[in-house]
Amino acid sequence: MDFPRPHRTLRVRTQGAVPRLPSKADVNDEVETDARRSIPAGESIARDDGGPDGRGEGRTADGLPAATVVLKPKRARPFFGRHPWVLDSAVLRVDGDPESGAVVDLTTHDGLFVGRGLWNGSSRIRVRLYAFDAATPLDTAEWRRRLERAVALRRTLGMLDPSGACRLVNSEGDDLSGLIVDRYGAYLAVQVTALALAGRLELICDALEALVAPRGILLRGAERGLAKLEGLHLPDRVLRGAPPDGPVFVTEHGLRFGVDLTEGQKTGHYLDQRDNRQAAARLARGRRVLDMFSYSGGFAVACAVAGTARSVLAVDGSPRAAALARANAELNGAASITVEAADAFEKLDALAAAGERFGMVVLDPPKFARSRASVDDALRAYHRVNRLAVDLLETGGILVTCSCSGSVSRDDFLQMLAGVAQRGRRTIQILEVRGAAADHPVSVSCLEGEYLTCVIARVI
Ligand code: SAH
Repeated sequence: MDFPRPHRTLRVRTQGAVPRLPSKADVNDEVETDARRSIPAGESIARDDGGPDGRGEGRTADGLPAATVVLKPKRARPFFGRHPWVLDSAVLRVDGDPESGAVVDLTTHDGLFVGRGLWNGSSRIRVRLYAFDAATPLDTAEWRRRLERAVALRRTLGMLDPSGACRLVNSEGDDLSGLIVDRYGAYLAVQVTALALAGRLELICDALEALVAPRGILLRGAERGLAKLEGLHLPDRVLRGAPPDGPVFVTEHGLRFGVDLTEGQKTGHYLDQRDNRQAAARLARGRRVLDMFSYSGGFAVACAVAGTARSVLAVDGSPRAAALARANAELNGAASITVEAADAFEKLDALAAAGERFGMVVLDPPKFARSRASVDDALRAYHRVNRLAVDLLETGGILVTCSCSGSVSRDDFLQMLAGVAQRGRRTIQILEVRGAAADHPVSVSCLEGEYLTCVIARVI
């Protein structure tokens, strides 16, 4: 099997320029719950077995508040509504001098208890709230209980099959703002986007080991912008056990995928698209499929093997991703898949110029909008790529089009498609509007966690 060998080093993202401080209006986008689809850029560093992760819990080992954060008048409503992010602009004053990572209580300006959370003096999110009653200490037992609840959900969903992969912890969706844990077979990949949880990695690892007994736990870097905003400088490293010495093979809806845990994008595999790949495959039978932005070939393999597509052309701008897709095609015996490393826009233009037609086009681009300020630009880019895709579709062809930009709403995305129908003079029938798979729960109190839209449509 020709899987590209992961290097024996883990990737760390290079430090870019300090991002502009977000305005209040767009901070929620800057702190999207899922650091997804940044095009990898980075340098490799030697494996690090130790390092500063602030093993203690600051001044609050008992989980009780070290200080009180007082809200400005009329700013408490979102937090009575259980939204977990308290921005600096909502804070009137701090009674006490909490260290970053310390437990703090949040009160209204006239002293009414609102919630309990963790302090970060250097982030726009000054407090992340984790409890809304004064009786809950944020101690080791409480973090363990939350992790237990998260794992119990995946058990309920039937996702703890040892050969499978799933998201074990989904940040706000599991009442653990700033923590993502993905399980790939016997390995766990952890992403931390909250400084206060970075200081609790040891107890988080202890709990995860007790709950799922992994062979290894790896720390993967969060998106660069996010890390900077939180003042987080966590290099990728092995937290527990040993890293795999090659790809980890996992099963997804009966298909096999090799996952590169140390060098791959995100934590290694786009788990959120698991059920959307299956939904696309259901409509792929006998069609010529274009899987654009294919990464490791998830949609391509599902359409070729489960969907019995006639042929699949998978395209990704990253040669490394293309190599992974080729290896996954081979692993599943999918001879009908061709993989190319090319720029999506150039390739779509070239296919159109050559008069090529497809029965299905999958578009799963990286995040086009990084903040609310860039939504208009992102929508223009979505329009352009979808217009090109629709032009390649034969009459009755299927468009599977995705957005993982949390700041682009479903309505905006569907409006963008309406524009494509108008300009392209085609009828676009929505068949399904889907989100991330069920192991990516979203809290109703923090809808910012709902970042993925996958529209399946027929184009006449
Ligand atoms: N569909 C994939 C996930 C895609 S993630 C899956 O199911 O696993 C987005 C991908 O877009 C990344 O692999 C990235 O390398 C690729 N990409 C980003 N910019 C691109 C461009 N301009 N042209 C082609 N691919 C690009």
